[in-house]
Amino acid sequence: MSTNRSRLLRRPSLLVQFGLLSFVSLAAVGVALGNRLQNTARQRTLHEAVHSAELIATAGIQPLLQPDDLRQDFLPLADTTRATLDASLRASISANSIVRLKIWNLQHWIVYSDNPRLVGRWFAGEQALDDAFAGNTVSRVSNLTATEELEERSFGKLLSVYVPLRVDATGAFTSDSKGAVIGAFEIYLPYAPIAAAIAEDTRQMFIVLAIGLVVLYLILFRLVAGASRRLRRQARENEFLAMHDALTGLANRRLLESTVADLLSADGRAGTHVALALFDLDRFKEINDTLGHHSGDEVLVAVATRLTALEGVACVARVGGDEFVVVATDIADGHDALLLCDRIEVALEAPVGVEGIQVSVRASIGIAVSPNDGVDCSTLLQHADVAMYVAKRSGTSRRMYSAEFDHYSPERLGLAVELRDAMESGQVFMVYQPKLHIASCEVRGVEALVRWQHPERGLVPPNDFLPMIENTELIGPLTWHVLDLSLAQCAQWRSAGIDLAVAVNLSARTLGDLNLVENVRAALARHGLPPSALELELTESALLDDHNRANESLLQLRTMGVKLSVDDFGTGYASIGYLTTLPIDVLKIDQSFVFDLLNDSRAAAVVRCTIDLARQLGLTVVAEGVEDEATLAELLRLGCDHAQGYLIARPMKADLLAGWISRWYEATRTPEAAPAAQPVDPPIARTPHLQLVQSGASR
Ligand code: C2E
Ligand code: MG
Ligand code: MG
Repeated sequence: MSTNRSRLLRRPSLLVQFGLLSFVSLAAVGVALGNRLQNTARQRTLHEAVHSAELIATAGIQPLLQPDDLRQDFLPLADTTRATLDASLRASISANSIVRLKIWNLQHWIVYSDNPRLVGRWFAGEQALDDAFAGNTVSRVSNLTATEELEERSFGKLLSVYVPLRVDATGAFTSDSKGAVIGAFEIYLPYAPIAAAIAEDTRQMFIVLAIGLVVLYLILFRLVAGASRRLRRQARENEFLAMHDALTGLANRRLLESTVADLLSADGRAGTHVALALFDLDRFKEINDTLGHHSGDEVLVAVATRLTALEGVACVARVGGDEFVVVATDIADGHDALLLCDRIEVALEAPVGVEGIQVSVRASIGIAVSPNDGVDCSTLLQHADVAMYVAKRSGTSRRMYSAEFDHYSPERLGLAVELRDAMESGQVFMVYQPKLHIASCEVRGVEALVRWQHPERGLVPPNDFLPMIENTELIGPLTWHVLDLSLAQCAQWRSAGIDLAVAVNLSARTLGDLNLVENVRAALARHGLPPSALELELTESALLDDHNRANESLLQLRTMGVKLSVDDFGTGYASIGYLTTLPIDVLKIDQSFVFDLLNDSRAAAVVRCTIDLARQLGLTVVAEGVEDEATLAELLRLGCDHAQGYLIARPMKADLLAGWISRWYEATRTPEAAPAAQPVDPPIARTPHLQLVQSGASR
C-alpha cells in the first residue's frame, strides 16, 4: 500500500499533467496558427501592394499614354508624352514609392522607363512579362540580381509587378479583363516598407493570438483545476467512505482490520499488547422499535462521539448495527484490559438525550488481548465476540475472552439468556432430595435442587445451565429465587406438620455477595422460618475463592443460626487446616468417593478419614450418592451421620414429598411397604433397603 502511495506521489497530479499537456498543445496550435497568420498577412500585404501598383499603372500612367504608343516595333514616345510621364512619376520616385517603371509593348521593346537609358531597348523578357502579356497581373519579390541594368542590381529587395495593358474593341485603353493585351507595365516597388507592414501585421496578429491562447489556457486551466479539485475531494470522500462508517464517521471493519494488522506487527515490543474491546448496546433494538430508527441513529452517533473522545485509544470502529470496537495498545495484562472496559463504561454512563427523552445506554463488552487470544484481527474479533456473547447472555457488563467459552455452544449460551424469563414464568422450580439420618432412619432434611422445565427442551438439569451463569450476575437472581422457592416450600411443609430443614446450594459468586446475609435473613423472615430451618451448601472451591469476605458472611450466618455445609467435600483441595478456621457444621462427602467406597481403597480411605475428621471437629457428615445397600451399610459401620442418594430417594417435586415421607415412615415400620420415590429424574433400578436401614438403625 505504501509503495502504491509513493508511486502515486511520484506521478504528477492530474492538474499538472493537464497544465503541461495543454500548454504544449496550445503552444503547437499557436505556432501553427502563427505561421498561417503570418502567411495570410504576407499575402494580404502583397496583394495590397500589387493592387496599389495596378492603380499606379492604370490610373496614374495609362491615361497619359495612347494605345498607338505601344504599337508594333519600337517608336519613341512623343516628347510631351514622355515629359508628362516623367513629371507624374517624379513625385513617386522621389518619395521612393516607385523604384523603377517600364512600359513594354508586345514585341518586348521598352517603350518608356523612368530610366531613359532603358527606353528603346529590347529584351527577351522574363516569364513574368510573358504572363502579363497573357493577361495576368503577376508579382514577385526579387533582388534584381539578374536584371538587364547593372545599376538596378544594387536596389536590393523589390516587389516587381507586371500589369497587362488592354484596349477595347474601339482601340481605347480599358481595364476590362476581356480587352486585348497590347503591352505591359513593369513597376518595381521597394520591398522594405511592405516587409515592415507584413511584420507589423504579423506582430499584431501574434499578439492577439497569444493573448487569445493565454486566455484560453487560463480559462481551461481554471476549469480543469476546479474539476480536479472536485475530483480530488470526491476521491478523498470515496476513500473515507470506503474506510469509515457513513453514519458515525468511525472506522469501519476494513480500516479496523488494517489498523489492527499494523498494530499487531509492532505488538509486544514494549511489553504491551493489543486489546480489542467489542461491545454492543443492550436493548438497542428496543430503542429503535420504540423511538424509531432516527432516534436509534442519534444514539449511535452520540455513542461514537463519546468513544472518539476516549484518550489513548488506537482505533474506534463500528462493525455492525450497534456493535463497536475500541482498540488499545498499551495493555500489559488483564487488569489493563478491564480498565479499558471501565473507561468505555464511564464514557457511556450518562444517558443520551433523544427527542427530549433520556435514554440510558448500557454495553456488554467482550475483550480479547493479543497474543494469547489471537495474533490476527479476525481471530481477536471473533474471540472478543464470543466473550461479548457470554457477557451479554449472562447479564454481565464485561467479559475477558477465555478458551473455555469455546465449549459453550450458542445453543447453551442461548439457554442461559432465557433463564431470566424462565424464572418469572415459573419454568424454574425445585425438587427435593431427602437426607436420611442413618442411625435413626429418619428424614430430617431435604436438599433443594433446581430444575428447569423448558417449553421445548423439556427438563433441563442444573449442570446444563448453571456453569454458564455461575460467574455472572445472573447467578444472584437465580440464587435468591431458589432460596425463596425452597423456604416457601419449607414453610408450607412445616405448616402441614412436616418438620424438615431445607438445604440450599450457594454458588461461589453468591458467597462473595455483600447482601448475602441480609438476603438470607429477609427470606427467612418473609416465610416466618427460624434460621435452623435452613442449611446452606457451599462447595469447597467456593470457600477457597474469597476467604475473607466469605468468612465474614459465613460467621454472621452461623451466628444467626443457619447451618453451613461443605458440599462435594474432597474435591476442592481445601487444606484441613483451613477448614478448621471456617464456621461450618456439615461435611458432605462427594459422591465420587461414595460410589467407589466398596471397590476402591483410596476412596474408602477418604470417606473414613472425612468421617473421623468431622467427628474430631464436631461436624456432621453426609454421604452423597448412596445408590446401594452395601454402601449404606458400610457408611453406617464407619459412623457416617446422614446419607443422601437414589437408594433412599431421587430428587422429587414438593407435592410428592409429603406422600413419600408418610410412606417412608410407614415402611420403616413394615418393611414390605417400602415407598417408591416418584422421581422427577429418570428412574434407576431401586433396591429395597429398609431392612438394612432398620437393622442399621437398631444397632
Ligand atoms: P450437589 O449439590 O452435589 O447435588 C447433588 C447432585 O447429585 C444432584 O444432582 C443430585 O440429583 C445428584 N444425586 C443425588 N443422589 C444421587 C445418587 O445416588 N446418584 C447419582 N448419580 N447422583 C445423585 P443435580 O440435581 O443434577 O445437581 C447437580 C449440582 O448442581 C448440584 O450438586 C449442585 O452443585 C448444583 N445445583 C443444583 N441445584 C442448585 C441450586 O439451586 N443452586 C446452586 N447454586 N447449585 C445447584
Ligand atoms: Mg448440594
Ligand atoms: Mg454434592
